[in-house]
Amino acid sequence: MSKQLTYYLYVLGCQMNKSDSERLEAILQSCGYIKTDNPDIADFLGVVSCAVKQAAMDRIYAQGHKWNLVKEKRPLITMLTGCVLKHDKEKLKYKFDILLDMKDIQKLPELLKQRNIQLGDFTPTTSYLSIQPKYESEYKAYVPIMTGCNKFCTFCAVPYTRGPEISRPSEEIFTEIKHLLAHGYKEITLLGQNVNSYGNDRRIEKSMSFAKGIKEKSSSGGELTFPELLHEINSWDGDFWIRFVSSHPYDMSDELINVLSERNHLTEYFHLAVQSGSDKILKRMNRHHTTEHFLKRLKQIREKIPNISISTDIIVGFPGETEADFQKTIDLMNQAKFDMAYISQYSPRPGTGAARAYKDDVSKSEKKSRDQKANEILKKTATEYNKKFIGQQSRVLIDAYKNGNLIGKNRQYKTVKIKSENKKLIGEFVDVKITKAAAWGLNGELQ
Ligand code: SF4
Repeated sequence: MSKQLTYYLYVLGCQMNKSDSERLEAILQSCGYIKTDNPDIADFLGVVSCAVKQAAMDRIYAQGHKWNLVKEKRPLITMLTGCVLKHDKEKLKYKFDILLDMKDIQKLPELLKQRNIQLGDFTPTTSYLSIQPKYESEYKAYVPIMTGCNKFCTFCAVPYTRGPEISRPSEEIFTEIKHLLAHGYKEITLLGQNVNSYGNDRRIEKSMSFAKGIKEKSSSGGELTFPELLHEINSWDGDFWIRFVSSHPYDMSDELINVLSERNHLTEYFHLAVQSGSDKILKRMNRHHTTEHFLKRLKQIREKIPNISISTDIIVGFPGETEADFQKTIDLMNQAKFDMAYISQYSPRPGTGAARAYKDDVSKSEKKSRDQKANEILKKTATEYNKKFIGQQSRVLIDAYKNGNLIGKNRQYKTVKIKSENKKLIGEFVDVKITKAAAWGLNGELQ
């Protein structure tokens, strides 16, 4: 009997990469591999790379080197996919057997066949996003609605690694979500680098079809807009939550705010990346929005959905960020009162606009100090927001058990810790009374 082949994936980066790796797993399993948690025994080792930070790339170089040493002792196939910048691709192609863009991942069975790997029943699809994934969780799933980005923020590698925006047809998204809901899934997170521009590419394509007499299905002509897509899913029966990331302030419409205020399956959590409080820096970042526009949008959202939790992304130490520019970020944070922020210190990514045009002129120690100062403000505003939950009922989707506590997230995406040994509640909604609040989470009791 032939040996059962195993695979191990090393997945770095964002939810999009995690979701992509679920599609890669589907291909590997159809080629006859089974998953292992032990890279030391795997016959196939794959990296789903992230180009956002140099530290992640350093780890990939180290993995490639280590796995090549393993190959000297036993048969092994290694693969690199995910977000890889051009100059890294050039260097890494000698360290891995297979180097494939995620959008070309359907070519993997053919490449494995050339290496004498048996093939199962993988059916090629027109786009990698149409591959039926092997979901990691049995109750929550990421559903990509688009990939790529047209924005070209100067600090970001995504437009170079993922290419231009490509939206999935709405019918295909609906089919995937209906399938998940029929299998009892409780949380669906719609993914895209810039979900607010969902469908723009397909509308251009469809408007050509429309001219040829194909029926229009959206008020905007052709494909649905993002608010229309959300509204449709939000109107379905069932007990589930819808979340989505990421939103760009520039493309955010009044319609989106109106749809969010419908609530129902749409949760009271919204991530809107501001990146800086200085308009001068926003311009250098090619962000297309101003601080005034951002704050106006925040006000409109909070007026319609008063208990909404708002998180953001902030970069400190972007080239040219003076002490006065940074102070504007602190002022904006004080004004916006974010409930969560993902604060990072700028690091140049080769090939991006900022790396080409600007000198990385803020020292490491200054970046660290600005990071700490921004985190202090966040801690203050997040604590204020979280304290409002004390004494209230909150619905929580339980995710894990650790040291006598169940841990999950509520509708506002707050982590809630509950004293309980009932591990059977993992994957279930529970009602909780919030008893304590701190900056990074809540404590509660089962009701
Ligand atoms: S919107 Fe900007 S930060 Fe977000 S993926 Fe596109 S280029 Fe990157």
